[in-house]
Amino acid sequence: MQSLEDISVQYVKGVGPARKKLFAQLGIESVADLLYFFPRRYQDRRNLTPIAQVQVGEWQTVSGTILAKDSRRSWYTKKHVSQMTMDDGSGRISCIWFNQPYLDRYFVEGKRVVCYGKVDVYKERLQMVSPEYEILESEEDEGLNLKRIVPIYPLTRGVTQRYLRRTIKASLEKYKDRLVEQLPVELRNKHRLSNIKRSIGNIHFPESFEDQENALSRISFEEFYFFQISIILRRLSITCKKGIAHKISDAHALRFVDAFPFELTGAQKKVIREIRADMEGRSPMLRLLQGDVGSGKTLVAIFGCVMAFENGHQSCVMAPTEILARQHYENIKAMIEDGTFKDMKVALFISGIKKAEKDKLYEQIKNGEIDLVVGTHALINDEVAFKSLSFAVIDEQHKFGVRQRALLAEKGKNPDVLIMTATPIPRTLCITLYGDLDISIIDEMPPGRGKVETRLYNHQQADEVYGLIRKKAAEGQQVYVIYPIIEESEKLDLKAAKEMYKYFQTTEFKKLSIGLVHGQMKQKESHEIMGRFKDKEIDILVATTVVEVGVDVPNANVMVIENAERFGLAQLHQLRGRIGRGETDGLCLLVAEAETSESNDRLKAILSTTNGFEIAQHDLEIRGPGRFFGRHQHGLNELKVANPLTQLDILELARKEAITLTENDPKLAKEPNRYINDIIKKRYPTYLKDVKAG
Ligand code: ADP
Ligand code: MG
Repeated sequence: MQSLEDISVQYVKGVGPARKKLFAQLGIESVADLLYFFPRRYQDRRNLTPIAQVQVGEWQTVSGTILAKDSRRSWYTKKHVSQMTMDDGSGRISCIWFNQPYLDRYFVEGKRVVCYGKVDVYKERLQMVSPEYEILESEEDEGLNLKRIVPIYPLTRGVTQRYLRRTIKASLEKYKDRLVEQLPVELRNKHRLSNIKRSIGNIHFPESFEDQENALSRISFEEFYFFQISIILRRLSITCKKGIAHKISDAHALRFVDAFPFELTGAQKKVIREIRADMEGRSPMLRLLQGDVGSGKTLVAIFGCVMAFENGHQSCVMAPTEILARQHYENIKAMIEDGTFKDMKVALFISGIKKAEKDKLYEQIKNGEIDLVVGTHALINDEVAFKSLSFAVIDEQHKFGVRQRALLAEKGKNPDVLIMTATPIPRTLCITLYGDLDISIIDEMPPGRGKVETRLYNHQQADEVYGLIRKKAAEGQQVYVIYPIIEESEKLDLKAAKEMYKYFQTTEFKKLSIGLVHGQMKQKESHEIMGRFKDKEIDILVATTVVEVGVDVPNANVMVIENAERFGLAQLHQLRGRIGRGETDGLCLLVAEAETSESNDRLKAILSTTNGFEIAQHDLEIRGPGRFFGRHQHGLNELKVANPLTQLDILELARKEAITLTENDPKLAKEPNRYINDIIKKRYPTYLKDVKAG
């Protein structure tokens, strides 16, 4: 029998070839897509409130017969106003809409209508402004759209709620029995999950909210379950391989620790122990290292590099941008040169270097002259070949896909891999996304760091902000003034930054020395200015976000962030992480005007804490997992319905079951489990590709 994925939506009653295109806009191609097109929310129309009893100020659903309609142009706002009055026998209510002249024709006197909106009183009459509206054409229509819990779907132009409901209902009637159950019956019985037919039916047209919740839980469970199996399989495919068992004596390990002029934090020591144990084992390490900006991850990573070196192998560090790669390179070189492992040869490999130099590097990496390569994704370039890569570090994991991770690992013979991220990820999401990784956390900052105080100002308070800058400069401190640059308005933004720079120079801070750096400058030029800032020749540095990564200027402890509402939360956190790095306390002044509730939430969050984990949690709540990780992130895209943030309990149940299954049958070769392989292949094709590559 043909599977529902292979039947075009056009064969559903009421669709046909013309409307097929409309469905395509909603991402619906097949009958399966249509059945899995879930409501955004529901409206309870089981017991509608009679109009005479509606609560003013509340959001309510009312239904009645259209009594009159009217349209006019508002003399005040010049807007077109459409008005419709309905009557339900108990009372009347008027509904108005602005600038939607087609509504004048849409409403017809005598027809049944449903509206959902906030009830007001205007000139002593009940009114709703811009409510949601639906006309009911027939008795059948009423059965589907009234006196029940009604699904509300995401729409596109030309598709109405009513039409979608009717079409989905028709597809359910015709095709529901052909939905194939994929969850094993024992699992369904054990966790009381209803069968797929019932669940899909109840997602669209539930009789109670309890039925709807059960349906959602069941469908989410299924998604989590297969997704977790795929993650575990991928992990098994890597850890079952034979890698290199590194050796390091306690004395050598101690020598590494003693090489630094400061005491390592407890968290750093703990993570070094974890890495050491992994690297001594034969199966390849696959570990995620989380730690806030400045928590000292780099040092921990270098320990792994030293271990590789001591065993006669090579290591590499891959960063997401050239600036970061360069900075890592410089830091690492400095740390190694100061330490007891001076003989280690470190090189920088980025795409910007000259051909001759590059060719030489290829050669040196290949013949093992270079022990540690720091670079960008240019490292996964085909031509880079190592003599013997046994340890690879990937910085800022969320900017690289799973695929790149696998490609880098291919450069060695099952090397140990450490992934570092400064975006701490709440534990719940960690399981979902990185369930295939072991996790290390640096949850402690090196001692002696200053505290950073954050204050919020509006644009009218510029004088106050400038006054503070002047005061701090008089105390000998240096100041960053940061301007956002957003791609869409790049030119305007840059102009603003340049103008402020001029204004500071000529008017506001005439007596101080001002510098400007931005992303469109030549590298040499911005390097020079940063150098002068470091050397305290510049008091106030006006900058676009180039300081976000990279610079470390201990004497700069004041930061002004202009138009802070335009920055993302993670970005604000990173920026602020630049100050208060030395012993002096930092002061961060946000100048902002929150325009949306989202930007308001962001500002509130950044004011409330400096803890990276808390900020990440806020960010996640504000943006939701999809946007938090960006669309490149594997995993979250694969989850269509299930939400690890709100369904943690289901996720954990599903994960437990996935672990049990794969422990008993790691190859999914036993008869009742074989079909799961096919499901995984079909649902997570990219994952499988990675498994082959890795
Ligand atoms: P991260 O990579 O986590 O942002 P880094 O590894 O770049 O942090 O460390 C930030 C700074 O802190 C570096 O200058 C480093 O030398 C210093 N540092 C690292 N560990 C310690 C420590 N235990 N005590 C004092 N300073 C440290
Ligand atoms: Mg770092």
